[in-house]
This record gives sequence, C-alpha cells and structure tokens, in this order.
Amino acid sequence: MDFTPSTYKSLLMALQSAGYQFITFEDYCRMTEQERTQRRFVILRHDVDAKPKNSLRFAQIENSLSIRASYYFRIVPESNQPDIIRHIAALQHEIGYHYEDLSLKNGDMGKAIQAFRKHLDYFRRFYPVATICMHGAPTSPYDSKDLWETNNYRDFGIIGEPYFDMDFDEALYLTDTGRCWDGFRFSVRDKVPQQEEWSRMGLTFHSTKHIIRWLERGWKRGEPLCNLMITTHPQRWTPWPLAWIKELVLQTTKNIIKSYIINHRK
Ligand SMILES: [Zn+2]
Repeated sequence: MDFTPSTYKSLLMALQSAGYQFITFEDYCRMTEQERTQRRFVILRHDVDAKPKNSLRFAQIENSLSIRASYYFRIVPESNQPDIIRHIAALQHEIGYHYEDLSLKNGDMGKAIQAFRKHLDYFRRFYPVATICMHGAPTSPYDSKDLWETNNYRDFGIIGEPYFDMDFDEALYLTDTGRCWDGFRFSVRDKVPQQEEWSRMGLTFHSTKHIIRWLERGWKRGEPLCNLMITTHPQRWTPWPLAWIKELVLQTTKNIIKSYIINHRK
C-alpha cells in the first residue's frame, strides 16, 4: 500500500542513501547562492491541512532518522492543535504559518492583513516563525497569495514563501496533491510553471515506489540527482486500511471536482 507512514519512512531512507542533505525551507532561505549550488539538498515541506496527529507521526519518523522538516499549520481548529505544534517544534522541526487569510475574510484585503498579523503572532508563541506558505483552498474563489499584491510579508519578518522564494529551476517540486505524485494536473493552485518541462524530461512519478526506484537508479549509476522540494499532506497518509480506503475514495472524488473547476475556469 502506498501513502502509509511506513512508505514515507522508506522514501526518507532512500533519500538518505542517495546522499541528500535535509534542510528546512527556512535553512534554504538563509543559504547563499553559492551554498545552494554546492549542496544536493531536499526540503521536506508538510502542509498540515487537517488531522495534525498524522503530522506528529511524520515528525517522529523524521526525528528517529535525525531529519528536520518544515511544518505549515493553518489557523483553523482541524489543523491548529497547540499540543501537537509544541511537540513537533520540540522535535527540532521548523514551524510555519499555512495562511489563508484572504479567503477567510472573503477577499477583504484590509481585514485579511490584520488577521494575518494576528495569526502570525499566535504561531510565534510556539516557534520564531520565519517562513509562510499559502493554503490552496481549491473551492474558494480567493487566492490567498494575492494578499502580497499590495502588502509585503518581509515587513512581518518573513524571509520566505515557497511560491515566491523557491527557485524551481534549481529544485524539482514533488507534491502528493490528489494522493499521487503526478496529480499536479488536478491541482487548482499548488503548481509551478516548470511542471510541463519536467514532464517532458520524464521527471514525473505516480507512486512513492517510482520515486524510490528513481533515487536508487541514480545513486547506483552515480548519476547526478537534482535538488528537491517534497510537499506532503500527512492527513492523506494513514496506516489504517479503512481510513486508507476512505481517503482514496475521497481524493478520487476531489480530483474529479478539481478537474471540473480547472476546466470551468479556462
Ligand atoms: Zn493546505
């Protein structure tokens, strides 16, 4: 079965065997251009949309392998569980804010930026938050990134937002959106412009096993492997067969709805 915590652990171990250095997104933002080109790194980004307990499980697995990752929490109760945030921070991971203020405030820029400030202050009680990441909210008509058309997150002491500050010409982006690794075609907002070129280069993977095989082949042949940003939504990764089936059905249905939204917008 794919998308279980043990598959995730296998992926981490394959990345370790391939010689990847694990950095947080905050580390990446603080690195110099020279450091970025000298190291082969992977950034593990976790968007905690719901079921934060699953994220804690991921955080523990990573910690057992001496790996640090970046966890982005939403302000809503299905994500924001103080005890879990505290626990994940104590495991040496980065905590960031998974913001959606513009959609929470129905597009009102003034109200949204006030809410953003308040929510950022809240998360800074747990960790000195330095990076943020937009929550996609596919069914909302508002794109929360638009908040930065008239505001600057750097004024809030934020040094990075992956959709603006990650150079995807120097790192391949893999995301489990739609509960597969090639679901970007179903994604309303979680996409980067380089995706089409990667597809042409054959750098697309359906299952976690495909990624592991690609890594194994690369390091056995001594081929240069590219830098990576791997985004997961740990709520989709479950060890329980019933929850696993439920998640599969739900994601398949969601993909159909998202395809409709994408085609409808064209
Ligand atoms: Zn999200």
